[in-house]
Amino acid sequence: MVFNEIIIGIVGGGQLGKMMIQEGKKMGLKFIILDPAANCPAASIADGHIIGDFYDEAKLRELAKESSLITYEFEHIAAELLVKLADEGYSIYPSPLTLKLIQDKFLQKTFLKENNLPTPDFIAINSLQELYKAGMLLGYPFLLKLRRGGYDGKGNYLIRGEAEVLEAYEALGGDKSLLMAEAFVDFRLEISAIVARGRRGELEVYPLAENLHQDNILRTTIAPARVSEELAIKAKDIALRAMELLEGVGVFCIEMFVASDERILVNEIAPRTHNSGHYTMEGCYTSQFAQHLRCILGLPLGSTELIHPSVMINLLGEKGFSGKARLAGLAEALRIPKSYIHFYGKEEVKGLRKMGHINVIDETVEGAILKADQVRRLIRVIGDKGGEVNE
Ligand code: AMP
Repeated sequence: MVFNEIIIGIVGGGQLGKMMIQEGKKMGLKFIILDPAANCPAASIADGHIIGDFYDEAKLRELAKESSLITYEFEHIAAELLVKLADEGYSIYPSPLTLKLIQDKFLQKTFLKENNLPTPDFIAINSLQELYKAGMLLGYPFLLKLRRGGYDGKGNYLIRGEAEVLEAYEALGGDKSLLMAEAFVDFRLEISAIVARGRRGELEVYPLAENLHQDNILRTTIAPARVSEELAIKAKDIALRAMELLEGVGVFCIEMFVASDERILVNEIAPRTHNSGHYTMEGCYTSQFAQHLRCILGLPLGSTELIHPSVMINLLGEKGFSGKARLAGLAEALRIPKSYIHFYGKEEVKGLRKMGHINVIDETVEGAILKADQVRRLIRVIGDKGGEVNE
């Protein structure tokens, strides 16, 4: 196959797909996306757009036929159908079998546990009685989680005492949902490792990142994470082992907790590029998006080395606003040296919707944190409806 005639099919056309295409265009690649929204972020730069649902067999087949190989930027898609297409001979990376395993948080954690990778304790829940029992086994508080389909904390319910068990069970769909219970981790820090694995099993890991969440949504990533060298080595080792065991091809994110007793526990694995890896765009020699393309194309992996300490701040829609998105304070924010805007081009703003991010780099982590705080105070994503606009 001639390199510059390769067409990559992406299931999903969100910001992760868009940033993958931006990198791929540098390499002369062409892209077709499958996404139900005509105005999704990647649509503005994709070479082709099949408008359709992620569970529509005919549309997925059309994408497969038109592409040299398929990847995805979102995990809540029809893994079964992708397995079928892979069996028919279409090239799909990462393997849909890996995706199937990861899509179900219970199966994912069972796999990790069976392979001696540390996770919080967890139990599958098939009835209300089992949930009460889980409370006794795990102790309060603990989490009830949807096994499939959850993201940004949606599908998680923190149960603080026996009196909340019934309410939590019903809130997550009760008997109609696939559920699991998980011990609450009193963590000191949330960290993540972006790992790349090529088609021949070559492995690379990026510098460990430290993640700050609010309302279950990632707000800030600091790289490198402010942890001891010893802890960073341990966390990276866990992430690399997980990637090797999963036989993942592409870029994955391994999210972990550092518990108050310094134990590292795997929270969740994403079989795709990740918000906590956006710092690599200006912070590292090879961005996570370029790296993903190298992995799935069978090219040599790029350097994961950090050029400078980096802080990524997410630009979320401000609560109370809706309508057409508007950036307020951008010029002031970009006056901060070495700050870089990535705006995804989503037309509609909603409270807490991820609209873009800013990467700030500096000679030191402390310097990057200070500058990122300044940027955060200067910039707002608002809408032309709602809220009190103070520009
Ligand atoms: P998830 O979508 O399951 O990754 O969870 C979203 C966020 O909820 C995580 O980033 C944590 O901040 C929190 N969380 C999830 N699982 C646990 C746990 N077992 N203990 C404490 N916090 C958790």
